[in-house]
Amino acid sequence: MLHLQPIQALIVIPGSMSVRNIMTDPQLPSDSPLSIDRRLSLLVSSVSDYAIYMLDPGGYITSWNAGAEHIKGYKAEEIIGSHFSRFYTEEDRQAGVPERALRTAREEGKFEAESWRVRKDGSRFWASVAIDPIRDENGQLIGFAKVTRDVTERRAAQEALRESEERFRLLVQGVTDYALYMLSPEGMINNWNFGAERIKGYSADEVIGTHFSRFYTEQDRNAGLPQRGLGIAAREGRYENEGWRVRKDGERFWAHVVIDAIYDDGGKLVGFAKITRDITEKKRAAEALEQANAALFQAQKMEAIGQLTGGVAHDFNNLLAVMSNGLDVLSLRLQAHAEVKLIASMRRAVERGAALTQQLLSFARQQPLKVENSNLNGLIRGFEGVLQRALNPTISFEVNYAAHLPAVSIDAARFEAALLNLVVNARDAMPNGGQLRVSTKKVELRAGEVGRLDSGSYVMVAVSDTGSGMPPEVVARALEPFFTTKEVGKGTGLGLSQVYGFITQSGGEVTLHSEVGKGTTVCLYLPATSGAADSKSGTSGTDHRDDDEDGTQRDIVLVVDDEPDLLDVGAELFRSLGYEVLTAGDGQQACRILKQRKDIGILFSDVVMPGSNGVEVARAARNLIPGIKVILASGYPMQALKTAHGEIDEFSVMTKPYRLADLMSRLKTVH
Ligand code: ADP
Ligand code: MG
Repeated sequence: MLHLQPIQALIVIPGSMSVRNIMTDPQLPSDSPLSIDRRLSLLVSSVSDYAIYMLDPGGYITSWNAGAEHIKGYKAEEIIGSHFSRFYTEEDRQAGVPERALRTAREEGKFEAESWRVRKDGSRFWASVAIDPIRDENGQLIGFAKVTRDVTERRAAQEALRESEERFRLLVQGVTDYALYMLSPEGMINNWNFGAERIKGYSADEVIGTHFSRFYTEQDRNAGLPQRGLGIAAREGRYENEGWRVRKDGERFWAHVVIDAIYDDGGKLVGFAKITRDITEKKRAAEALEQANAALFQAQKMEAIGQLTGGVAHDFNNLLAVMSNGLDVLSLRLQAHAEVKLIASMRRAVERGAALTQQLLSFARQQPLKVENSNLNGLIRGFEGVLQRALNPTISFEVNYAAHLPAVSIDAARFEAALLNLVVNARDAMPNGGQLRVSTKKVELRAGEVGRLDSGSYVMVAVSDTGSGMPPEVVARALEPFFTTKEVGKGTGLGLSQVYGFITQSGGEVTLHSEVGKGTTVCLYLPATSGAADSKSGTSGTDHRDDDEDGTQRDIVLVVDDEPDLLDVGAELFRSLGYEVLTAGDGQQACRILKQRKDIGILFSDVVMPGSNGVEVARAARNLIPGIKVILASGYPMQALKTAHGEIDEFSVMTKPYRLADLMSRLKTVH
């Protein structure tokens, strides 16, 4: 008699869809004479999803159902009487697994396991196996009930899922450019990928279980930024932002951050996915581009203003020359006291105008420079007294001289004027006192580090004050001519523009650093020269030798100018000096006259004229009339003339506007 308990238990194994409930099946006549035992036996034999069979105590098969035939491939008559170990793999058999299974069932009342089994055709399947011992009423073991299920597909699906999860984990783990990790709803770190380790510098065991706010700056943490980010993500599903974050070593990086909220099927927040990217490089590149654009714009602006200014100043100079010469002629003719005074005041106005054009030309980098090798330490030392006097007693003044300062090639007088300009600006910025420091320093620059300067050695002169400082919009315009924030009559707006023009003309660069309320530092950079400083560097005085006039020469002078006004004034000037005057309105006409009149003693010509210019006329004159005296007049600086016309040192050049006195003394020395 079978002990039926285990078999009844089998019927409730889930998934056995094809089990027909024989106990209550209406298709079976209710009045069937079948006994319970018979019904059960029918049930077992018709189950097709489970191999259900029995073994005798030695493991030999004693029964076989439809499911067993279906799963293992043997018919009942083929297999009954065989040892059940034949379903095991060779390896398992040799390892004694079948015997162990029976022993376990016998000793523990149950054996359950999953492992490979072999079908009749030799193919393998993944089996879920249960073995139950069967005992008679006296507890005597009479055999085993064995139930086997083919779960190969389930195992394959589980395996596939596990592999897919593993691949995904490896993918996330292996991403190096993004820090990917998850947070609990409270912001505790749950996991940590390789990118996170790489970007933030912490290993997984250092951070898992800690709060993610540790990556924020102290300031952001105090301002509650981490919590705010989580709050927004929780409410809106997503939070995206950029900001500074801190690596383990304390270094900051600019991070692009996305926080996604994760909800379970019921809509409950279970945590956050956090993606962080280090975009410091990108941000730096964008900033550098912005800076380069701003610098380019600034340079172009200064260039454009420079050209305009230079052009206006040059034309203005010509007008002043007309007036200046006219005044000179008038003052020779008019004797009345009142008129003399009037003329003197007019002349002062003309001189002020001329000085203004010099300042503008200086900004436009069109001023002639008397360059010499100077040591700026020496230059400033000799000038310290003047700077000191420009300040008031509420301002403390100190100069820091760098040791071993290389020489620079510079116009000393103009450098002094530039320095004075800066010191006066600093004084104006410190009406209530403060500190002014001038310092010199040798610096090595990389190309592009300061403005458009090439790489190399430079001498830097810094003028720092603790004054009002400038807002950025004033810094941007401070170098422009006529830009001033000072009240009318106090500022001309020409100080810094002259400094700028002079320094850039000298091959250098000017930088402004200013902070409102803190102060300003103006740095002048000048290229260091390898040569030693010239022995005497200092201010250069003009020496007018006003010797007495020894009789007027009855020379013939040819005056050439394309400006009719200037031509008239020039002619008048020479006539008033007692010369016989010929005039020409352009170079060609001048050359024709020079060919006809070999008795011309002096050529006085404008340089810049359409057609043949003054230099060409002068050369032609020297050919035609050896020994002719030549004086060229120009509103352009020497340097510009040389660039345009080549070497002109052989000729005497006067800068417009010129004074009658200058012309007279020039006539005496010219050859
Ligand atoms: P000005 O001194 O005649 O106004 P500048 O060209 O010398 O002309 O200076 C232009 C402007 O730059 C000044 O009006 C002032 O606003 C600003 N500035 C120059 N130097 C300083 C400084 N050291 N501190 C504060 N502002 C300054
Ligand atoms: Mg000034």
